[in-house]
Amino acid sequence: MSEINILSPHVADMIAAGEVVERPASVVKELMENSFDAGARAVTVEIRDGGATALRVADDGKGMAPEDAGVAFLRHATSKLRDEAGLEAIGTMGFRGEALAAISAVSEVELTTRRRGDESGTHMLLSAGDIQDMRETGCPEGTVMQVRSLFFNTPARLKFLKSDRAEASACVQAALRCALGRPEVSVRLLRDGKEEFFTPGDGKAASCVYALLGRDTAKDLLPVALSDGDMEVSGFTSSPSAGRGNRALQFFYCNGRYIRSALLQSAVEQAYKNTLLTGRFPACVLYLRLSNAAVDVNVHPAKTEVKFSQEKRVFDLVYHAVLAALENENRSGAPAKAPEPARAPAVSARPAARPDFYRSMSAGEFRAQNYTVRPAPAPQRPEAAPVLKSCEQPYQTRLDLSAPVSRQEKPKKSEILQNYEGARVENSVQSVENTALPAYRIVGEALKLYILVEVGDTLLLIDKHAAHERMIFDRLKKQERQIMAQTLLESVTLRLSGEERELLEQNGELLSELGFEIEAYGEDDYILRAVPADMESGDARAAVEEILEKLRGGKAPDAQSARDEILHTVACKAAIKAGWNTEPAELRRVAEAVLSGAVKYCPHGRPVSVELTRRELDKLFKRIV
Ligand code: ADP
Ligand code: MG
Repeated sequence: MSEINILSPHVADMIAAGEVVERPASVVKELMENSFDAGARAVTVEIRDGGATALRVADDGKGMAPEDAGVAFLRHATSKLRDEAGLEAIGTMGFRGEALAAISAVSEVELTTRRRGDESGTHMLLSAGDIQDMRETGCPEGTVMQVRSLFFNTPARLKFLKSDRAEASACVQAALRCALGRPEVSVRLLRDGKEEFFTPGDGKAASCVYALLGRDTAKDLLPVALSDGDMEVSGFTSSPSAGRGNRALQFFYCNGRYIRSALLQSAVEQAYKNTLLTGRFPACVLYLRLSNAAVDVNVHPAKTEVKFSQEKRVFDLVYHAVLAALENENRSGAPAKAPEPARAPAVSARPAARPDFYRSMSAGEFRAQNYTVRPAPAPQRPEAAPVLKSCEQPYQTRLDLSAPVSRQEKPKKSEILQNYEGARVENSVQSVENTALPAYRIVGEALKLYILVEVGDTLLLIDKHAAHERMIFDRLKKQERQIMAQTLLESVTLRLSGEERELLEQNGELLSELGFEIEAYGEDDYILRAVPADMESGDARAAVEEILEKLRGGKAPDAQSARDEILHTVACKAAIKAGWNTEPAELRRVAEAVLSGAVKYCPHGRPVSVELTRRELDKLFKRIV
């Protein structure tokens, strides 16, 4: 007997369903897209519990004739694509004819639909993909799809669903993304009978953004509009003073479809280079219009990934559009908002700490008052303080000795000598005591970041932040007990998106074990009451935002890596920072950790020190060739 079976269409549908229907939120997305494709002007979405119990999407679109309703749930049934040639020119959201087959294979569906202009409509009941009942009915024009008991016949999938609250917030997020892409459609979302949002459908992106993202976000947005031949981008991007700790408010649309795109994300962020503090992210809602042939959406069944045929052109268009928006803001002389402090207002346990830190960050790096815009490459502000690399950027391991050291790069002698006197006295004491270490001398600290250490015939340059970060990270990681928390004198309110709330709930236990105390407060808000004791309270908000961004970006697929990522953030925030004046004793502690070999790389793998031998220096000065 042959071993190969051909799967029945029913089993094949159930397998395929896994690709399209992962959770209730995917059903919301597919049904809303069908409504948009049907030319709806108003769409109402309702979810009960987490959406798996019941969800309903009603539209006033063109509806279906009875004969079409009968086949709509078959696999590869679509009215949007006829033949191969059509694949090039797809303007609709759907075209695979897969969604309804997939959804109905794993749920109970009730459809009521009436084609525009028809006398009467059709009512259908399906269970696990089989039509149970179909009859003529009286109903308004348009379509109502109700999906109940999702995954009732696939227990394995059901088991993977998260709490109702988490699934519901994923549904809200999915609906929001769809709605934000269609300002011309009025979308109402009800969750357990309560209205979550309502967009007016007046065709204005601004009112849609306002309705969905709220006033606080909307008020900081600058309009974006630029076209290049058959490509066009419009929408909004945030003013540099309104940077966020994560990318949760970046939305990209291509021909009305929500997409994820590293290309667009980086085009936008490049435009903010030098105006937004490292580690802060812009918010944006950008609508890209391209000819249908210039984009291939056929990459993934869920279609959130696309391929552009001319990536460079798309990148340039978005980059210049955002840059122009930022430049416009500057030129229009809009009252320059007081740059917010780089961190939330300090409610510090050590109140008098490092006033120079705030000064250097806000004046130098936070906002460019007078940057100039040139087409490409990314603009550089002339006299600005160098923007420090974030912990995760690639880093040059070895100094490039072939290039002559230019005048401007040479550290000022006064800076090198800044801490020299004090350090020398203490060092002599320390190096005698600590015999395990090679003899060394701290020459000083340069550029408020690099510790210069002379060891034998070698000059060691240590990145004090990276090295200290590693020391803290190692200590925290070793600690098995609960990490000590410090209660904030003034708690911090966090307003989170649905997706962020979900992440917070999923990782609540871990966060509390690591010293973060976060409580739900009302519908959307959370209160941060305590942070790990190592951190300063002024860093509390930024730390939580950064952690959520990491968890969101899928950097932490399992509990262990989530734990590590959170500790990275804590260590980074707790470490002495570039730009701070650091006590000589602290510099010495860091230098010794590096000299002892205990600390080699920062938690992200960057080296913490660079060596310059006498030979290399002599070569630089042409003493030897
Ligand atoms: P696709 O959207 O890829 O064509 P679907 O399985 O989502 O595939 O839908 C199958 C067909 O059912 C669609 O092509 C369309 O003709 C019809 N249909 C689905 N939803 C609606 C709706 N809300 N209004 C009108 N027609 C619909
Ligand atoms: Mg569809």
